[in-house]
Amino acid sequence: MKQEILDELRGIVGSAYVLSEPEELLAYECDGFALHRHPPDAVLLPASSEEVARIIGVARKHGIPFVPRGAGTGLSGGALPRFGGMVLSLTRMKSIRELDFENRQAVVQPGVINLNLSQAASPSGYYFAPDPSSQMVSSIGGNLAENAGGPHCLKYGTTTNHVAALQVVLPSGETVELGSRAADCPGYDLVGVFTGSEGTLGVATRAVLKLSRLPQSAKTLLAAFESLKDACDAVSVIIARGIVPAALETMDRRMIRAVEAATHAGLPVGAGAVLIIELDGLASALQVQADQVAEICLHHGCQELRVAKSEEERQGLWKGRKEAFGTVGRMTRDLYLHDAVVPRNRLSEVVTRIYECADRAGVPLASLAHAGDGNLHPILLFDRKKEGEEVRILDLVREMLRICVDAGGTLSGEHGIGSEKNEYMDMLFSAADLEAMRRVRLAFDPDELCNPGKILPSRFSRYH
Ligand SMILES: Cc1cc2nc3c(=O)[nH]c(=O)nc-3n(C[C@H](O)[C@H](O)[C@H](O)COP(=O)(O)OP(=O)(O)OC[C@H]3O[C@@H](n4cnc5c(N)ncnc54)[C@H](O)[C@@H]3O)c2cc1C
Repeated sequence: MKQEILDELRGIVGSAYVLSEPEELLAYECDGFALHRHPPDAVLLPASSEEVARIIGVARKHGIPFVPRGAGTGLSGGALPRFGGMVLSLTRMKSIRELDFENRQAVVQPGVINLNLSQAASPSGYYFAPDPSSQMVSSIGGNLAENAGGPHCLKYGTTTNHVAALQVVLPSGETVELGSRAADCPGYDLVGVFTGSEGTLGVATRAVLKLSRLPQSAKTLLAAFESLKDACDAVSVIIARGIVPAALETMDRRMIRAVEAATHAGLPVGAGAVLIIELDGLASALQVQADQVAEICLHHGCQELRVAKSEEERQGLWKGRKEAFGTVGRMTRDLYLHDAVVPRNRLSEVVTRIYECADRAGVPLASLAHAGDGNLHPILLFDRKKEGEEVRILDLVREMLRICVDAGGTLSGEHGIGSEKNEYMDMLFSAADLEAMRRVRLAFDPDELCNPGKILPSRFSRYH
């Protein structure tokens, strides 16, 4: 990037907050989806929405692409500066501006870490319900942009259900307020459009989020099964019976062993799969629901059923589940974390086909799932250094996505499309569907400077 542009940017945020040395840029060349990499030309760390607007003004003047970035934990290449340009890292904008318990709302900057918000609200009996497994590190801005889900989103809904209003700096450089702190805002639901738009429609600089009341009580069960198929069958029946647990998570045999070795959460290492089932609500209603769930599990081949006897035991099970992805590193050099969603009644059939596919290709799988949502995360274990291995894995991923789409599912349950899957969008959408989405994008960003090459297939689609 030209020296005079860097100087202009230094004039906005201060020299310390403009990174342009190669070693400083290295950390920003990818997000959690490390197969796609591209270094930015500069990284800016603004402290306010005014600074964001001025940076975007410079980007527009010089025709430079810009990419918003939160904590960089995204798993679909969303924060990747695919065509260089500027990364706007929002980590300095991390203050919780207001906790309004009377109206159950929080006003936050985008860089606030998800868990920090719940921790700030919980002494008063409230929390922020969307709980991605990355909640210890991921930011509200990234959660909004990816419409993040999490174990408890089965009952409480994903991020989009918990946003009242947003302040956004548009790709034009204008600052707008979307939505309203009052219910049922008139006009187009632009908060809904922005949430899940993967950083392609502008930069969120402030959010009014809905807080939820902490449940009076929770009961957490651990059910061990001989196979993942049995566990998935139990999930379909629990949901079909009209029981809505707060969370319904599966792990397969490989995953259980890795998690247990790392966290000593007390998981049954001999099991083919486990279900973690959490029920919450009024204490008086929980036992009846727990009995129903237990009966369904036992009927579907559950070999061992445990109820967490203390808060410590319950937290231990969740620690195991939330840190599971991190433990995969013990099993493999490289991994591909797959993310797709299928109708819940097709879950066990799709899981069976995915495992058959991996077996045929001789690729080991470990598997996690927010199964209650039909959200699957098979993890393909491989070694990138082996000749041709990366291409083979990508072919396998395509085959697995095809299975999910053919079963009535979609390409992503929660991690987004980013640069990872935009070339597959035509598996799911017609040319007219895609054109309608493209027009929405262009209405916000006619020059395609804001996070280009993401979500929609384009002339940039093929990454390599
Ligand atoms: C171990 C692990 C577990 C995970 N578990 C889950 C899970 O359970 N559920 C789930 O949904 N995801 C999960 N993820 C994926 C990831 O954590 C989420 O997508 C998260 O919401 C990304 O937040 P981030 O702050 O890291 O965003 P980043 O990765 O920095 O960015 C993600 C996207 O958001 C955009 N963006 C960031 N900030 C803004 C902003 N202020 N305005 C506009 N756009 C912005 C970026 O351009 C990019 O497209 C997991 C990831 C890891 C590594």
